[in-house]
This record gives sequence, structure tokens and C-alpha cells, in this order.
Amino acid sequence: MTGRFANIIVDISHEKVDRPFQYRIPEKLMGKLTVGMAVIIPFGRGNKRMKGYVMEITDRVEYDEKKLKYIDSIVKDGVSAQGDSLRLAWWIRENYGSTMIAALKTVLPVKQKLKQVVKKTVICKADMNTAMAKAEEFAKKHQNAKARLMKELATQPTLPYTLVTSKLNVTNQTIQALEKAGLVEIQAEDTYRNVLPGMMAELDGWKKKQLSESQRTIVMSIMKDYKTGIRSTYLIHGVTGSGKTEVYMELIEQMLNEGRQAIMLIPEIALTYQTLVRFYQRFGDRVSVMNSRLSAGERSDQYERAAQGDIDIMIGPRSALFTPFERLGLVIIDEEHENSYKSESMPKYHAREVAGELCQMKNASLVLGSATPSIESYYRAKKGEIQLFTLKERLAGGQLPRVYVEDLRDELKTGNRSIFSRRLYSLIADRLQKREQTILFLNRRGYAGFVSCRACGHVMKCPHCDVSLSEHTDRFQKNSKLVCHYCGYMMPGVTNCPQCGSKYILGFRAGTQQIEELLHKEFPAARVLRMDADTTKTKNSYEQILSQFANEGADILVGTQMIVKGHDFAKVTLVGILAADMSLHAGDYRAGERTFQLLTQAAGRAGRGALPGEVVIQTYQPEHYAVVHAANQDYEHFYADEIAYRDIMMYPPAAHMMAVLVLSDNEKLGAEQADMLAAQAKRQFGDQRLVLIGPTEACIGKINDIYRYIFYIKHREYQVLTAVKDALEQTIHAMEWNADSVQFDFDPMNNY
Ligand code: ADP
Ligand code: ZN
Ligand code: ZN
Repeated sequence: MTGRFANIIVDISHEKVDRPFQYRIPEKLMGKLTVGMAVIIPFGRGNKRMKGYVMEITDRVEYDEKKLKYIDSIVKDGVSAQGDSLRLAWWIRENYGSTMIAALKTVLPVKQKLKQVVKKTVICKADMNTAMAKAEEFAKKHQNAKARLMKELATQPTLPYTLVTSKLNVTNQTIQALEKAGLVEIQAEDTYRNVLPGMMAELDGWKKKQLSESQRTIVMSIMKDYKTGIRSTYLIHGVTGSGKTEVYMELIEQMLNEGRQAIMLIPEIALTYQTLVRFYQRFGDRVSVMNSRLSAGERSDQYERAAQGDIDIMIGPRSALFTPFERLGLVIIDEEHENSYKSESMPKYHAREVAGELCQMKNASLVLGSATPSIESYYRAKKGEIQLFTLKERLAGGQLPRVYVEDLRDELKTGNRSIFSRRLYSLIADRLQKREQTILFLNRRGYAGFVSCRACGHVMKCPHCDVSLSEHTDRFQKNSKLVCHYCGYMMPGVTNCPQCGSKYILGFRAGTQQIEELLHKEFPAARVLRMDADTTKTKNSYEQILSQFANEGADILVGTQMIVKGHDFAKVTLVGILAADMSLHAGDYRAGERTFQLLTQAAGRAGRGALPGEVVIQTYQPEHYAVVHAANQDYEHFYADEIAYRDIMMYPPAAHMMAVLVLSDNEKLGAEQADMLAAQAKRQFGDQRLVLIGPTEACIGKINDIYRYIFYIKHREYQVLTAVKDALEQTIHAMEWNADSVQFDFDPMNNY
């Protein structure tokens, strides 16, 4: 990097991250500075010497050149962990388009002077049966508060103190009385760690395993690369239960032996208590965990501990990637296909890509793992950029379930208009009779109101984008129109199927609540639990529902995509996927991939224990490749079909796509700005085989009185898209538009 000037961030310890200040580079430091380096600069009126970080080296003068001061010197130890974070922030800014401040806030925890809040928990000292017995005893003595608490603790051995005093309405005195009696313990601190001693019995089950031949091969290849100085990206493709986590742990252990540190990303929803126990068991307090429940202060403490070398392993969701380890040697991304790795706020980065950059900076290895790898990663593996490993067998036992695909068009023909196909209905009845459990899964993720024919399965699609059209109705539910989320193509709603003429062409509507009601009607004796956004609003409700179901407190669990992750229920022998089409026609190019993933995962919920499982997939499109291959658990063929589609339509990863979202409080101005930017892209890059879609009003045209316009640009080369972004950013800068009024999203994962 060359240039005569350096843009420097001076103070990063305040909540308000400052803008960069420009300095001159003195002769003696020419060519010696790199981004992220700490330097000493004179600052402010008094020219107080301060530490700053180089953000950019440039020849472009941004202030009055005569007034610019010189950098003093380089801080001895050069690029620090914090410097690395800043370099990463810079890379994120460059690649995803955002303000530097937003990028910095992403990589650095906000330091806040918070009062140290002590989190208290009430922990049950008695085992479940004793707790139950005590609860009954108290109830008989009419000591209702005590009874309430013991009963709750019997199923949930640790409870937040505040929940006990508020929700359960148990007073401090009562809790203290129970503590005196030796029934409970009050603990103030990190709950995860403190519950461990009480769980030693459980820990015994998680002894380090003798690795299987194929597991050992993976560990050995990666470590051999590492020791010979090769840093690469690896993808482990293996069904749930095939031993990936065991491989991760072995890799981490060997990296630790090499004196390096590790970060393991795992989607929050899949970060189960069991996984944590396994890691603590193996690595003790060298491990720390990050989750969204941590306050900003706690998060910054965690980073602090990492920076000081108090820990060597960080486990957590997306944000754990920014743990400032000095000696980072390994990043693992489990369930790498998960959407939650993509940030939905600015900067809209993908953790997998940022991890790639981070590993390069730190000279570390990157390991991805999944039962259903993302099309992106598999594509790179096929091209030889990623080394692919496959784990085929399930080590924990349990056979793959038998899968039925039920054609809902046939159901209609026989006069069955219920949500349940005949097969699903009879299998539910069968399970109720056998006292085995059922999961019913309604996949609403990305659901955007597609319109399909119940008689022939025809789906209304955009003629230009080959994605499903979404139905929009006016507020009287009368006049409907069908809209494409990408290009804005619009047509009036249809009353007859253009394919077969049937009048059963309708928007798809079904909710978990309706299913629950129908179950009560059809199977009055069944105990039904429902899990969706509504029933999981309160803290812990998610865990409570799952543990109730795991303890066989219900026969049927109805839920959205939330229920397919992480948990093993030994008694579940039937999984019903009620409307596979909901995700199949989500109106974006990833609909097929998401459907395949969800169907495969949901199917994997059945038959995890000793009892064999069955799966029923209900759909109007049994011939769709995502359904066919999911039913056969055949990733390879799914990939082949999917990548062919992406290639023809120029969707990622066969090509790249950039969404440009223009926000304005002025309807007309916003539209003009979007038009202007799109026209500029076309004019400047038009000869480069760039495809412009839009601009059009965004799918959600207005949020909080801010109008939203969207256009997309597709190109085979990612670099062309970043060049377009840079050009547009210059215009935005030159026109002095608000920097936040235009958002960029590369290879977008959701609709706008
Ligand atoms: P995944 O992460 O792919 O779901 P895990 O690593 O959790 O798989 O392994 C699934 C189960 O198999 C766990 O109970 C684990 O303890 C067990 N397991 C993994 N590897 C081995 C092994 N080499 N020998 C015996 N059991 C193993
Ligand atoms: Zn039809
Ligand atoms: Zn379209």
C-alpha cells in the first residue's frame, strides 16, 4: 500500500467510535506502514501524544493539506490483535460496503462503563424425584410458594433468580429458607460454568472417543497440512451424528498443542447445553462461550479475556468470530450452510467469507462442517478451492428413516381437503396408540405468499427471474396482484389456473395455530405442544417447550423451523412435514436449497433412538428435485440439479449478485436516486456483461415512513460488483447523500 497520507482512527475505547483523522506520513516511515498498525500521533490543540490505528494509506487529501500533521512513530510491537481487528473491519468495509464506523462496531465490542450486574440463579440441589416429593410435601402443608418453586425445579434444575421472584412469585425469604434447608443453592455468576459440578454424572458419558478411521483421516490430513505450512479451507460433509464434533474437538486439541487458539462458530439455536458440556469436559476453563444473551459489557469482558490469553477456545454464533485471539490457528464453522451466518444489518457480511479473510490474516486453517453444505461451499469444493471430506456412517446408532412423499393433488382428487394427507392422518393415529411421539413441522421460513393450483400443482412464477410470484392483496382482501421480488414484474391475481383451468388456484395459508386446533378436533386425547414465534416470546420458553416434549409431556409437537435443530428425541418416530411447498416457493433463488436443507434436517429428527422412524412429506410438487432428493437423502444429485439452475439463471455461486437498497423519507427522491444509481452502473459497466434487474419498489415498500427502492446487479465476477459498488459509493459521497441511505448486499440471502 502506498501513499503519502494515512487515515487514522484515534480513540477506539469510547462507545462513540471516532471518524478517522488524516495525517502525513514522514519520509522515514514511507513504505513501512500497513493497515492495522498502531502509531503515535500528535492530537488536538495541545498535540498530546496518542496511540492511533492506521485505517487507510492514500494519496487523496481529505482535509486542508497545510494543516495536516505528521505521524510521530510506529508503536514497537507493530500489528496487535486489535490492529488485526481493525484490518478486518477495513476489509469488511471494502467488501460489503458500509461506513467504517459500522464495520468497526461489528468487529470491536462496544466498551461501556456498565455497572457490574450480578446474575443470580437458583439451583436445585436435590434430584428430580426428591424435588417432586418435596413439592408435594410442601403442598400438603399449604406452603404453596415453596411447592411451586420445587415443582418447577424438578423439571428445570436451574432457574434465573429474577424469574423465581417475578413469574413464580416466590419471595427472597422463601428462597433463603429453602437454601437453609439444603434444597437449593443461590449462585451469582456465570450459569453455564457453575452448573457443571452438579452435572458430573452426565459428563462421564462424554469421554474422549477413539476416532474412527475416517475421522482420523480428516484430522491427520488437516494437521499434516498445518505442520507443513499449508493453510487451506476444508469442508466436512457428514450427516448429524456422523462424528463431526468429535473431529472438531480433536483438531482443537492438536492446535492447542501447537500453541494456537481456536474459534468455533455454531448457530445459536444449535448451541445446546450438551455440546457445551462436551467442550468443558475436554478443555475445562480454557473454553468460553458467547451468546446473544450476554450484555454488551459481558461481551466486552469476554473479548478482554481472549485478548489477554486467559482462554484459548471461543464457541459462539457469528459474532464470536471477532474474538481477538493473538495466536489464532483454527476457525471452525459448524452448520456452515445456516442463514444466521449472514448479517442482516449493515455491514451485511457473511461469517464464512470473513472467516476466510481472518484465517489468511492470521495464517490459520478454516474448517467448515455440515450435513447439507451450502451450494457455495460445495461449488468451491468441486472447483478444488476447498478440500472435501465425507463422513458417511452415523456413529451414535439409529437408522435413516423411511420417507413417504404425499401428493396433495391426489388428496384433493379423492375429496380430502384437510391439512393432513390420509397417510399422515393414519400414522399420527398409529403413534398415539403406540404412545410414541410425533413432530409436525410447518416450514414458514422465507414464506412470501405464493399462489399455486391445488389441482395440478402449477405455481405462478416470474417469467424473467424463475422465482415464485408473491400475492399482494389490498386491505379489503379483494383485489390481488402477483409481484416478483427481484424485478418488480407484476400481474393481476388469477381466478383460474392457466395450466389446467381449475378454480382451486389460491394463496397458501396455514399457521401452526390452525394445525394445533385441528389436532384437538381430530385427536381429542392427544397432548399437543406448539412452538413458534408466538409461544417462544418469553425468556426460556424455547427450552421449556423442548424439555417438556423430551420428558414425554406431550404426544405431538407442532412447530416452525425452530424445532428441527439440535435436539434428539428418542421417542419421536414420526415426522410430518405439512407443507414442503411453503419454502419451495419463497420467491428467491435460494428456495430450493433451503427446502432441501429443511426437509433433510426435519427428516433427520425421526428415529434417533432405538425405534425406527417414518417421515411424511406433503407437497403439491412431489416431482420437484429438492423434494425428490431430500426424500432420498441424496445431496450429490440435489447439488447437480441446483447448480444447473443457478448457472442458467446467473444466480450465486455460478455468478454473483449485488442488491442495492435505496432508502429515503421522500418517495419521489428515493425513486430518482435508485434510477440514477442503476443508470450509472449500466453506463459505466454496461459493456461488461452485467445484468441489471430493476429498480423497483422493494417488496416492503415503506418501513417507519422510509421509502425503499431496490435493484439488483448480476455478474459472473465478484470483483466487477465490488467495482460497481465503489463507483456508486463515490457518487453517493460526491452528491453528499446520507451515507446510510444506500445499502449494499452481496449475494443476498433474503428478499427486500
Ligand atoms: P456430529 O457433530 O456429526 O453430529 P458427533 O461428533 O456429535 O457428530 O457424534 C455423534 C455421536 O457419536 C456422539 O454421541 C459421539 O459421542 C459419538 N461418536 C463420535 N465419534 C465417535 C467415535 N469415534 N467412537 C464412538 N462414538 C463416537
Ligand atoms: Zn392447475
Ligand atoms: Zn422477476
